[in-house]
Amino acid sequence: MNQLITTVERTTSPDDSASIRFRCNICGDYSRSSLQTLRNREAVSCETCRSTLRFRAVINGLSIGLFGRQIALPDFPIRRDLKGIGLSDSDVYAKGLEQKFTYTNTFLHTSPRLDITDIDAAPFKEADFVIASDVFEHVQPPVDIAFKNVRRLLKTGGVFVFSVPYVPGTTAEHFPDLHDYKIDSRDGRFVLTNTTIDGRTQEFQDLVFHGGPGSTLEMRLFGFTDLVRHFRAAGFGDPTVLSFNAAQFGIDFTGEACSIPMIAHAIDGLEQSRGQASY
Ligand SMILES: [Zn+2]
Repeated sequence: MNQLITTVERTTSPDDSASIRFRCNICGDYSRSSLQTLRNREAVSCETCRSTLRFRAVINGLSIGLFGRQIALPDFPIRRDLKGIGLSDSDVYAKGLEQKFTYTNTFLHTSPRLDITDIDAAPFKEADFVIASDVFEHVQPPVDIAFKNVRRLLKTGGVFVFSVPYVPGTTAEHFPDLHDYKIDSRDGRFVLTNTTIDGRTQEFQDLVFHGGPGSTLEMRLFGFTDLVRHFRAAGFGDPTVLSFNAAQFGIDFTGEACSIPMIAHAIDGLEQSRGQASY
C-alpha cells in the first residue's frame, strides 16, 4: 500500500508533467507545454512557431541587450536604424527580426555568406547586434579569431547574443592543430584526417556531430572560464548569463547550470584598459 502511494505521488507530483501555459516571445501566441519539455534547451515547446527554450532565451537576451527590458518579438518597435547580423540563425526567429530591424541572416556555405573566421571582405559593419547561437562550437580553431571578428562587426555598445553548450572550467579543444583536414566514412564510422601546419598527419575517430551524423562537427566543448576570457580578450564586457526564469515567456532554466545563452556588450579599448568591463 505504501509502495502504491509512493508511486502515485511520484507520477502526479507537480513538477515535470505539469502543463504550463506561456506566451511565446517569438510568435506572440499562447502555448502549452509540459515543464519537462519547456526546460529542455532543444525541445520544441511552442505549438505555433516550434520555438525552443534556447530560441526564446536568445530573443529575450536580444530584447534585454537592445531595450533593457523583456519584450516579445512581435512587440519590438520597428527600428530600421538598428543593424543586426545572424550567424546561421533559425528561421523560427530570423523572419521576425527581418520585420523589425535591418537584419541579415548569414551563412557559411550559402548566400548571404559570412565566414566569421575571415571577415575582411564582409559587407557587414557597424552592427548594433550579432547573434551566434550554437555556432562557435563548430568554428575552426583558433576560436578567439571568431570572437574578435564579432567585435569588429559591432559598434561600441553593440550587443553580442551568444549561446554554446558549455561546462564549468576550461575548454576541451578536440582538434587544436586543425589545418588541412578531411572527414571520410570508414566502415560506417566517420574519421577525420588532419595535416598540421608543420606537416604531421593526425587521425581522429569518435567524432561528435550536432544535427545528426556527418552534419556539423563539434570542434570543442567550451568551458565557462575560457568563454569569459574570450569575451574580454576580444573587447567585450563580461557576459551576462541569462539564467533567470521568465515564466511569462516559457523560459525556465531550473536545473540547468550550463549551456545557458548570454549577452555581452562591445566596449571600446579605453574601457577595456581601465578594466571597466564587468557587470
Ligand atoms: Zn511561438
